[in-house]
Amino acid sequence: MRVEAFDVVVVGGGPAGAVAARTAAQGGARVLVLERAPSHPLRCTGLVSPRFLEALHVPRAFVLREICGLRLVPPSGQAVELRSAQVKGCVLDRPNLDRWLLGLAQEAGAEVRLGIKALGTSKQMVTTSAGPVRSERLIGADGPVSGVCRWAGLPGPAELLVGLQALVAAPFPEDLVEVHLGQRVAPGLLAWVVPAEDGVLRVGLATSKGHPAAELLRQFLRRRFPGAPVVGWTAGLIPIGPPRKTAHGNVLLVGDAAAQVKPLTGGGLFFGTCGARLAGQAVLRSEPAAWYERSWRRTLGKEITFGLRARRLVLGLEDKQLDQLVKVLSDPALRRLIAEKGDLDFPSRLVRASLARPEGWRAVVRLFPTLGPKVLGLALAASLGFC
Ligand SMILES: Cc1cc2nc3c(=O)[nH]c(=O)nc-3n(C[C@H](O)[C@H](O)[C@H](O)COP(=O)(O)OP(=O)(O)OC[C@H]3O[C@@H](n4cnc5c(N)ncnc54)[C@H](O)[C@@H]3O)c2cc1C
Repeated sequence: MRVEAFDVVVVGGGPAGAVAARTAAQGGARVLVLERAPSHPLRCTGLVSPRFLEALHVPRAFVLREICGLRLVPPSGQAVELRSAQVKGCVLDRPNLDRWLLGLAQEAGAEVRLGIKALGTSKQMVTTSAGPVRSERLIGADGPVSGVCRWAGLPGPAELLVGLQALVAAPFPEDLVEVHLGQRVAPGLLAWVVPAEDGVLRVGLATSKGHPAAELLRQFLRRRFPGAPVVGWTAGLIPIGPPRKTAHGNVLLVGDAAAQVKPLTGGGLFFGTCGARLAGQAVLRSEPAAWYERSWRRTLGKEITFGLRARRLVLGLEDKQLDQLVKVLSDPALRRLIAEKGDLDFPSRLVRASLARPEGWRAVVRLFPTLGPKVLGLALAASLGFC
């Protein structure tokens, strides 16, 4: 039997796989994308920054909502609402985004096979549910529990969170997202309410493993939207903390497979597709692994380190301390600063901008008695560019 040969096989046809495949195909490589799912279900909340739309030239037709405000709800329930005159986030039609990105990869020359699962690799052969293929390079874009990562003997992410989301039919402001913090709501990360299609909200939470995510979400729904109908569910794992190595020889991991995810929110679309573009360029080189590792960490590494430190700090807080943190944000000058400089992808830039102004230092001083020296350490590290 003649075995088909490709320059690059991409395992996983999610956003990261599609972007990596497109980039490599545009560079002249013969690319095959294997996607085990036959279609594109809703996999996430689809909240991204306007920067994501610009970077990928995403058509406006995929934008369901433009977000200008954040309501932050601490354990005490005393919410702070932060509003901006600028659009800070967009809620996307994720299934159509995935379909469109794969279409672009095909237009660039990549071959896409849906409903085909990669089963393993050995030397330059990839075993699939439809028989073997040969490939010079392999890109693992196969999500948070990556087979490619395992087959290449690469380490996995530091942590996997459980994300669970309900689609709820309920009235809600069109341009606001709500974030709930606290041990009772979502131990390990946060809970969210995001407006999506007309009259439908994406209400979810992400928790560390070992917590009853389904029960926590049911309780949250009962408290926040009593009696509102749930019209659908989505669940998935969220990798936090990239492993120390994401590439080896001719194998590169991208997107969730490399934990290219924002540690403070669990969002992976922007960072994952940034990493994917670099992987698509790397496979065109003679020594892809070292170049890729260096390039993506140079682009995203500091922000991920900042996010990991900030996350550790927030997770170490008791509910009373979280209340104090959110209370400090209600300072009008600080709210104006957040409205102007707040950035969904690069929160460290807000910290840096804050410390260039007196209101930022006022916030650090007010937080110091409650949060201790760690808050000062993190603020200084961010402002000096150490993370
Ligand atoms: C509940 C929830 C809400 C989220 N909300 C947001 C959000 O609002 N904003 C944001 O930026 N991020 C969000 N995320 C994260 C985001 O969904 C991921 O970061 C993003 O999907 C990662 O893209 P990817 O292409 O790396 O992986 P995926 O989208 O997971 O794609 C991996 C693909 O690989 C395929 N695959 C796996 N194994 C194989 C195999 N062996 N052979 C062939 N195919 C295979 C899978 O079928 C899948 O299609 C959320 C995650 C969850 C769980």
